[in-house]
Amino acid sequence: MPKDAMAQKRGGWIACPDCDTLHQCGPVKAPHDVKCANCGRTLFTRTENPLDRPLAFALAGLVLFIPANLYPIVTFSFHGVKTDNVLVTGVYRLAEGGFPGVGLLVLLASVLFPALYLMGMTYVLLCSRLRQYPGDFALTLRMTQGLNRWGMIDVYLLACLISFIKLGQLATVLPGPGLYCLGGVLVCTLLASLGFDPDLLWRRFGARSDKAGSWNLLKPKAS
Ligand SMILES: [Zn+2]
Repeated sequence: MPKDAMAQKRGGWIACPDCDTLHQCGPVKAPHDVKCANCGRTLFTRTENPLDRPLAFALAGLVLFIPANLYPIVTFSFHGVKTDNVLVTGVYRLAEGGFPGVGLLVLLASVLFPALYLMGMTYVLLCSRLRQYPGDFALTLRMTQGLNRWGMIDVYLLACLISFIKLGQLATVLPGPGLYCLGGVLVCTLLASLGFDPDLLWRRFGARSDKAGSWNLLKPKAS
């Protein structure tokens, strides 16, 4: 029996985030949605391959991130002068044009945070899969959960689409291979996020030994 299932059988308690109703969870077979008995909110979802699928998509996203940063996102052609623009070129142009703050924001939201999110997800999933928990596992998992909302590659792609429409009247604007790779990163990140279950990782982390763990802390005191 897996350790997380054992931990649940020992008496895992889970509180509904909406109505605070406490539930005692037994082992759940995948695929299955566990819902709150009071309000019907989904407490957690058991999926098939809960670690392998998001890990595969996160790794694919990381691999695609390299050509997305190296190859041109867009190519401008104006009166025979051709300019290739990679992902960070836009950041540089914004800083050069007097908008360093906006440039920094673009750098963080479209490069740094998505990359850190994918790296964090790969790391914690791999650790959990191998059942090896280094000292920074909890911090990395917490950081990965926080980074989820800060990656905005979709906004960047939308801005590229608008530039194609607007600048297409003045110059020839062509999508580069980097743009397709960036689209791939976005799809992989979305699919990895869909299967990424931090609750499961916390439970597995808590059940890593009998000495300490989140589930042990949640055990009701014997009266
Ligand atoms: Zn509820």
